[in-house]
Amino acid sequence: MANKIPRVPVREQDPTRRATNFEEVCYGYNADEAALEASRCLNCRVARCVAKCPVNVNIPGFIHAIAEGDLAAAAAIIAADSTLPSVCGRVCPQESQCEGSCVLGIKGEPVAIGKLERYVGDWAIEHADEAPVKLPERNGKRVAVVGSGPAGLACASDLAKAGYEVKIFEALHEVGGVLVYGIPEFRLPKERIVAREVEAVKRLGVEIETDVVIGRTLTIDDLLDREGYDAVFIGSGAGLPRFMGIEGENLNGVFSANEFLTRANLMHAYDESYDTPIYAGRKVVVVGGGNVAMDAVRTAKRLGAESVIVYRRSEAELPARVEEVHHAKQEGIEFRMLTNPVRVLGDERGWVRGVECVEMELGEPDESGRRSPVVKEGSNFEIDCDVVIMALGTSPNPLIKHTTKGLDTTRRGCIVADENGVTSRPGVFAGGDAVTGAATVILAMGAGRKAAAAIDAYLNKKDDATNV
Ligand SMILES: Cc1cc2nc3c(=O)[nH]c(=O)nc-3n(C[C@H](O)[C@H](O)[C@H](O)COP(=O)(O)OP(=O)(O)OC[C@H]3O[C@@H](n4cnc5c(N)ncnc54)[C@H](O)[C@@H]3O)c2cc1C
Ligand code: SF4
Repeated sequence: MANKIPRVPVREQDPTRRATNFEEVCYGYNADEAALEASRCLNCRVARCVAKCPVNVNIPGFIHAIAEGDLAAAAAIIAADSTLPSVCGRVCPQESQCEGSCVLGIKGEPVAIGKLERYVGDWAIEHADEAPVKLPERNGKRVAVVGSGPAGLACASDLAKAGYEVKIFEALHEVGGVLVYGIPEFRLPKERIVAREVEAVKRLGVEIETDVVIGRTLTIDDLLDREGYDAVFIGSGAGLPRFMGIEGENLNGVFSANEFLTRANLMHAYDESYDTPIYAGRKVVVVGGGNVAMDAVRTAKRLGAESVIVYRRSEAELPARVEEVHHAKQEGIEFRMLTNPVRVLGDERGWVRGVECVEMELGEPDESGRRSPVVKEGSNFEIDCDVVIMALGTSPNPLIKHTTKGLDTTRRGCIVADENGVTSRPGVFAGGDAVTGAATVILAMGAGRKAAAAIDAYLNKKDDATNV
């Protein structure tokens, strides 16, 4: 299948300029560009793109509405399945989901579904006051949600729309989870986008209390027994960073990507009007190849450091979104593929002075199906640097596991839950990174929505049993 109209390119900030600021990289489509790109969609009867969307957004439906110039209809179509369209349009890995299976991609370029979703989401934010919120009568039941990331926000929205009184308890002082503390401003603007999508959730009547650490301030049992909630959803994410366990990881100048990005984003260290200290040094080595690694290395670059990615597999295996890798390269980030650190090197004062690495080659496929990296014996070499940032993945914080009796978890600390978020504790549901380990925004959102449906079914069944 081909299309005579080429994919409409999206306007972006010039790479040399943007590598020195934190303003958004991508400007998005304007009305004419969006309408032209929407006109490329074939409105397939069997839409392969929808099947590949984890929350099954009616993609041809909303694109057709854009082409017709009916943005209110486009926004309503997306809202039926997605709580955070402006966020998802910016950060979803579309190349391996909807766009990756668009029929136009077989012989040419797929429809720019993500950029169109972003366009509609941003339009909906700008016109939020014009869309009256119609809510059902409250049903008298209360649900507590732990964590205000995509999983918690999506679960809370669906429950509020179904008539529940919902309160989110968030440990940090800001709402949004990784959307505010992890993903940088240049990819996902906080005030202009995240805060306003959170406002839309609050307009549904969802209450949000920040600075409440469940497991410390209150436990899950307190919520159910003392505070009188009928059910609890745990969407507490996976915020505990992993390290390599190599020599020198305790030297001054070694950070987890989480700490580095939290300082930069949540605590605004990049903004000179804030006091938050951040140390980007002269030359930064970021270890890892996912979105977190790309965000850390591009943040370090913007803070003025020469910045390098070190990844143990080849470029084909980089797990980061293709767009982020492309942007990082445009911004002058150096990529050292098939390279693995074996030791962080320190100076006499205990500060990082470099990292000793080995070259790798790809061997047989491992259980993930990817070829596993094997060390090339005798290939040790040093990279000179003064900061090392570890972006090697994260696991759930064990606090809730340790303070909630009867809640089963895996060896890696993830909460055990079925595909509807049902855990081993009656009345306690869970979803997102807290269950899967570090994954994606859309999967967390989808898990939150499934759990909301399961909570509704559970509480209705409990009512029926009581009324017999
Ligand atoms: C730097 C970075 C970049 C990423 N880039 C992308 C990307 O481009 N595309 C993509 O799809 N995904 C990306 N991801 C992954 C994605 O952000 C996560 O998969 C997603 O946010 C998970 O959502 P969640 O709601 O499960 O958890 P989170 O977003 O982690 O939210 C959990 C919330 O729970 C709170 N919490 C934790 N414990 C408690 C407690 N005990 N009491 C109260 N509150 C608690 C936390 O403070 C947090 O606010 C990225 C992740 C990171 C770290
Ligand atoms: S597969 Fe592509 S062309 Fe077909 S409906 Fe989806 S976006 Fe449109």
